[in-house]
Amino acid sequence: MKAIAYHPDYNKYDLGTDHPLIGNKPQKVIDMLKSRHLINEFDVITPSIATDEDILRVHSEKYLNQIKRLSENGGMLSFDTPAPKGIYQCAALAAGGTIACCAKLLDSYTVTVNPLAGFHHASKSHSSGFCFFNDIAIGIEYLRAHHHLKKFLIIDLDVHHGNGTQDIYFRDPSVVNLSIHQDGRTLYPGTGAMEKIGDDDGTGYTINLPLPPGTGSNAYLYAFDELVPKITTAFQPDIILYQSGVDTHHSDPLADIMLTYEVYYHIATKIKQLSESTCNKLAVLLGGGYNNSTCITAYENIFNGLLHKSTYVTEPDPFKNDNIDVVKKDVNQLKEILQSYWSFT
Ligand SMILES: [Zn+2]
Repeated sequence: MKAIAYHPDYNKYDLGTDHPLIGNKPQKVIDMLKSRHLINEFDVITPSIATDEDILRVHSEKYLNQIKRLSENGGMLSFDTPAPKGIYQCAALAAGGTIACCAKLLDSYTVTVNPLAGFHHASKSHSSGFCFFNDIAIGIEYLRAHHHLKKFLIIDLDVHHGNGTQDIYFRDPSVVNLSIHQDGRTLYPGTGAMEKIGDDDGTGYTINLPLPPGTGSNAYLYAFDELVPKITTAFQPDIILYQSGVDTHHSDPLADIMLTYEVYYHIATKIKQLSESTCNKLAVLLGGGYNNSTCITAYENIFNGLLHKSTYVTEPDPFKNDNIDVVKKDVNQLKEILQSYWSFT
């Protein structure tokens, strides 16, 4: 069985008309699923707001109180993240959606989707990058507390590096945080170098592949195939959380990885298959995407992949001269860095 979390108040997560994060994306995802006759494949679940107890497993009390205070009258959380009035309720509802998606996976569901999720820049006590609460970590800690799951795999394919998630799990060997993102020397938030592999007992469990601007579809798929299947199979997670940001698409105004629609179909298909061959529990957190129309089409292909549909949206690839040679070199370098922890043969 499959489920999607949705609440009308999701659409209030809107950081302003001049801001790249538009507020009606969850509604547009549902509309798209209806128009493509895909909605019937999912149970629609209505999330509740994440409680203070849920949020405090990840964030500090001081930070939670800061968000609540900002939410009363509105203000700024950071240079790029306005905190509109009522944002605490919206952000806590988004986190509640991820909790609901994680919980359903222990209740005979195999795929769940939260269209307002993947807020990977939120760290324990600070945040930016349009994020308030790290719903990925809140979902993981909920499962750890209530269901005693032990091994969590995050596959974070948003174009931005998830610096908040990395901070939270840098020393934690129970969470593999595998991120493929645009090189931090060329994009916010500037983190995610491949040499950052965790610390203490968590060394080897943070995995970062930074990609050059102009990577292109073929090189991106090559990088995914070289890393993700082997790590997933070796780790044997109890659950997979897939941050499926589509700001890697060539039309996205914020980044330069230059993927076509097809890539999202292929990646979602592959991750669904990896889930089926390991834990059969996949939470999909739709993540970033800042071109108002094309991001919905990219999400559509993620759904097509998750549902193993044989048809999907295609487009001409305007970036045939991709960076395959650079990416091959980078992948080999990362494999060398990780060779004491993971086998790629
Ligand atoms: Zn992003």
